[in-house]
Amino acid sequence: ELILAFESSCDETSVAVIENGNKILSNIVATQIKSHKRFGGVVPEVASRHHIEQVTMCLEDAMAKANVTYDELSAVAVTYGPGLVGALLVGVACAKVVAFSHDLPLIPVNHMAGHIYAARFTNEIKFPAMALLVSGGHTELVYLPKENVYQIIGETRDDAAGEAYDKIGRVLGLTYPAGKQIDEMAHRGSDTFSFPRAMFKEDNFDFSFSGLKSAFINKVHHADQVGEKLNADDLAASFQQSVIDVLLHRTEHALNSFSIKQLILAGGVAANQGLRDGLDQLLSRHSDVELLKAPLKLCGDNAAMIGAAGYVAWKNGEVADLALNADPSLEFEWIEK
Ligand code: ATP
Ligand code: MG
Ligand code: FE
Repeated sequence: ELILAFESSCDETSVAVIENGNKILSNIVATQIKSHKRFGGVVPEVASRHHIEQVTMCLEDAMAKANVTYDELSAVAVTYGPGLVGALLVGVACAKVVAFSHDLPLIPVNHMAGHIYAARFTNEIKFPAMALLVSGGHTELVYLPKENVYQIIGETRDDAAGEAYDKIGRVLGLTYPAGKQIDEMAHRGSDTFSFPRAMFKEDNFDFSFSGLKSAFINKVHHADQVGEKLNADDLAASFQQSVIDVLLHRTEHALNSFSIKQLILAGGVAANQGLRDGLDQLLSRHSDVELLKAPLKLCGDNAAMIGAAGYVAWKNGEVADLALNADPSLEFEWIEK
């Protein structure tokens, strides 16, 4: 069964064709990063306009590369939230046009479920599972008791991990998005600055990165004022180690509190090499839990992951009609442990 999938929640326009929820026939990603770089972040109006300009070409490329015709498709999946409303609407409108004109079911997909299902291209997902979801707008632990059920058990109280990377990147004079560059610098430097780590003592699964971000910015500004030259690679390494320690600390608490078969690492920040290595080490102490990491190339936004999550949603009867609207603040349900 073939699913045509659309993703346009932020600054990547992407269209993919996925077979049986786990095989990529095509995954076209048009990134707008160049256009947003000079503003130091994503400008919503600019993003919407780029999506409109790119989506038709991405669709044509995705169909051509997959070498399939519209008659061979089984369904159309689309990200309808969370994200920028004007950006989301482009993918939603386009998916509706294809679904209507070819009489195909329309599957609404939560972008964050998509990120989790990027890991489906590494291996099968086994339930119950826990996902550590770290991206530009979210940092959360999501419990998956069974297929197609997503429950948040904890999330960041302030900045998302990726957001913190991008913000301190500006202070280091790096271009947006800074995550990958800081990751590379961190591997050249060492953790010499000992920045704070928000380790909540209470029995929760929440994260916090704003204290770390402020400490980092203060350190750099103070050094500037007194004319002291700090080693940028060491700054990056120290920042990154602090982020990783916080993520691992709460993840370990989740591993100790839930009986799960797999821990899934997903989201744009899941591409972080330090985090991937850190989780390998953590999971070596939890041999009953399998670590499933999203493939490096599918950590960032793409439509292949939307097709994989959409396939599962569709098998579970989730179909929308043509009244489907974008939901910029779409969230998983919360559960208390
Ligand atoms: P969301 O998925 O929450 O809606 P988003 O789609 O904008 O937000 P993603 O595309 O999932 O976010 O991830 C982008 C983020 O990942 C950016 O903040 C970027 O800096 C960060 N990132 C990418 N690669 C790395 C890396 N190697 N290390 C750390 N951060 C990284
Ligand atoms: Mg992006
Ligand atoms: Fe994303």
